Amino acid sequence: MTVSAGGSAFKRCTKCGETKLTEGFYRNRAQKDGLTGWCRLCVRAYQKAHYAANPEHRIRQAAEWKAANSERALDADLKRLFGITLGDFNRMVAEQGNVCAICDKPQAGDRRLSIDHDRACCPGSRSCGMCVRQLLCNLCNTGLGLFRESPDLMDRAKAYILRHEESK
Ligand SMILES: [Zn+2]
Ligand SMILES: [Zn+2]
Ligand SMILES: [Zn+2]
Repeated sequence: MTVSAGGSAFKRCTKCGETKLTEGFYRNRAQKDGLTGWCRLCVRAYQKAHYAANPEHRIRQAAEWKAANSERALDADLKRLFGITLGDFNRMVAEQGNVCAICDKPQAGDRRLSIDHDRACCPGSRSCGMCVRQLLCNLCNTGLGLFRESPDLMDRAKAYILRHEESK
């Protein structure tokens, strides 16, 4: 209960039993006197002990935050690296039925397909957005790179394999 004495209001903490100025308590509208039953120090000590004993609480909070922000983070990454939005990407996924534009297979390992772009326009791993082609699995995407994205080399590789198959 709250007691007034000489203009200052006091209250006894139900946890530590000390009588303190009401400023020493948190506000709580649910309580009759509008203050928490425990003093600030007791509330803080409890919270500290509680969170220390429950590290998974923080981990869960971090995971929830990440999930809520992952779409936004992916959108930002796509814009920065490929000049397209998450909406553009999702449209490409839908158009291709979420399979590779070359081998018709989904990306293994529950990952998203790679965004392929023309390295004649943007030589690095980033795209200006204008030269994005289609979505490829990482094997086909890597394959294009290994053949220097050269149709001529790929033709010659194909001819090479067929030539050796025929001579078997
Ligand atoms: Zn207390
Ligand atoms: Zn593929
Ligand atoms: Zn480009």
